[in-house]
Formats: sequence, C-alpha cells, structure tokens
Amino acid sequence: MIRRSPYRVAAPEALDPRERREGRGACRSEQYRDHADLWYAPTRDREALNAAMRVCVACPVRAECLEDALDRDEPWGIWGGLTKRQRRDLLRSRQAAA
Ligand code: SF4
Repeated sequence: MIRRSPYRVAAPEALDPRERREGRGACRSEQYRDHADLWYAPTRDREALNAAMRVCVACPVRAECLEDALDRDEPWGIWGGLTKRQRRDLLRSRQAAA
C-alpha cells in the first residue's frame, strides 16, 4: 500500500501520534499549532524544514518524540528534530554500534 505524504493536507490533527506528545510538544504551542505543514514540508523546501527543526531543538519532549518515531518507523515528517532520512541514518548507526 502506498502512503501519501500529508503535506498538502496538513492540519493540526496531522501531528498525531498522541498529539505530538500529548500537547506538550513545542509544535503544539499556540504559535505553531496552525502550521503543521512545516513538519511535513517536501524535502526541497529547506526553509520550512529548517524552521520546523529549529522549533524541535527547544522542545521539552524532543527525546520521546524522536524515540516514538523511530519505534514506529514513521515514514513522513520531522519528528524529534530529524527528517526521515536522518532517522534512518540514526537507526543504522545505532545498529552498527550494537
Ligand atoms: S520534537 Fe518537534 S515534532 Fe516532536 S513534539 Fe517537539 S516540536 Fe513537535
């Protein structure tokens, strides 16, 4: 089954699972909750991706968010401040170190 990127239909609910750490995520703050599209920007949109990553850096639930995304092999979006490719590289480096 092919999953479509939610980028074009990004909405606050696209930020699930668990409302990006039960509403404690910086992306759920009043400032960003209507800008879910930043976290689902296409790879070529570096400006949007960098903006999302900057928010993640200061997020109080970053570690949990990232581990959850790794656990479920999340195929889309920025989670825990990392893109899908960065998450894949992190998993590989962990496996290599194990
Ligand atoms: S780390 Fe980023 S994506 Fe995850 S909850 Fe925090 S701001 Fe949202």
